[in-house]
Amino acid sequence: MLPDPQDTIVALSSAPGPGGRAVIRISGPTTFHVATRLFESALSFSFHLRSMVEGHFRLPSIHSPLPATLFIWPKPRTYTGQDLVEIHTISSSPLVDLLITELLKAGTRAAQTGEFTMRAFLAGKLDLTRAEAVLAVIEAGSRDELKEALTQLAGGVSRPLESLRDDLLNLLADVEAGLDFADEHIQFVDQRTLLERLRKGLALITLLGKQLEGRALTSRPFRVVFAGRPNAGKSSLFNALAGRAAALVSPEEGTTRDYLIHHLDLNGLKVDLVDTAGRRKTNGVIEHQAQSLREEQTRSADLVLLCVEAGTPLDEADNLSLNQQVPPVVGVATKCDLAPAHVGFLPTSSLTNAGVDRVRSLLADKARSHSRPALAPSLSRCRHHVDACLANLRRAHEMALFEEPPELLALELRGALDELGAMVGAVYTDDLLDRIFSRFCIGK
Ligand code: GDP
Repeated sequence: MLPDPQDTIVALSSAPGPGGRAVIRISGPTTFHVATRLFESALSFSFHLRSMVEGHFRLPSIHSPLPATLFIWPKPRTYTGQDLVEIHTISSSPLVDLLITELLKAGTRAAQTGEFTMRAFLAGKLDLTRAEAVLAVIEAGSRDELKEALTQLAGGVSRPLESLRDDLLNLLADVEAGLDFADEHIQFVDQRTLLERLRKGLALITLLGKQLEGRALTSRPFRVVFAGRPNAGKSSLFNALAGRAAALVSPEEGTTRDYLIHHLDLNGLKVDLVDTAGRRKTNGVIEHQAQSLREEQTRSADLVLLCVEAGTPLDEADNLSLNQQVPPVVGVATKCDLAPAHVGFLPTSSLTNAGVDRVRSLLADKARSHSRPALAPSLSRCRHHVDACLANLRRAHEMALFEEPPELLALELRGALDELGAMVGAVYTDDLLDRIFSRFCIGK
């Protein structure tokens, strides 16, 4: 069941723990009443205007008052559409806890996860695709994901959707008006215009589907970085996986001083292979730069392939790498045509190509299970509705073409509109909202 939007809720909406400042949000009908009971200020202020007031809270068993700034947002032009205040104060966990306890005693309820954003949605401030974008902004793990989420927040898919919904609603109104006057043979839209408007709708929804597809595909490739001692056979394995001589292979140590990237497509999964300079003691400026590039590449990896030549004992750095958690490391034994692999290592030989396919499928598995982009659930939800809407519109177009009964056409148009409505949240179920908003954090 959805929480009651008429409760006044409170939550810490900044990161918990010590920091610059703590931000506590309160939203709901009794927000200002609660604030008046606890907040004291030497200045006069009103809850009718957006404003900011310096003052303090008195907390039980704490001698000095807690300095705070109160930001006042009267409804309806607020994030939740309700009266809202933000308390900015010192970010000290015990003090913040005490203050929240006092606010709860004064008649507020602790907010559930995503409850502020759910209220924004229920007040019509955000549609579901934008609410999901808020979540994606919070969860974004990379700059690309953040950019994508911010685009969606700025109305990326919402705007074309709104105009498509408007067009289809108008068309449905015309078709249904015709039904009411069927006996009088009055038509509100002739067949040619009807077909034209349906084709326009089909084109728009197809374009939207393509946009969503594009977004899913533009997510960052899975980044695999080769690591290990010089001459371990990294470049040879890189070339074997790339299927061509991309990296220079030589028996001389330190041939790969820069780094090379090869873009692999493993059954639709994008994987970037990064060959780096081998790990070794630095001498000289270029060598030093190559080593810092290697470290930088390794840090940005989603997976590290630690290459160790079969038959050579693991050194301290190999063991350190293998124990590393982030990014995860997989041990690969190279040159297994010369000696047996170490226990727990993937045996490979770039000379005979043995084990190369196994590495390839391991990379595909890891790339697949790698954390999906923050917007992925939103995208797959939207894609599902886009496909269903497209099917409805295709049938509607066919019916219009063969001049089938307008009742059936109206049914398909309604179906298409329901799908678009579900996508933006005009038609929603408690279960769907629960599912979406429970992924948020408290305070958002
Ligand atoms: P990197 O410095 O780690 O990139 O190592 P390279 O890929 O440049 O290889 C170093 C040397 O090992 C070269 O002479 C390669 O021909 C040789 N080598 C690489 N892989 C194999 C292999 O699977 N079997 C054998 N026998 N030699 C290999």
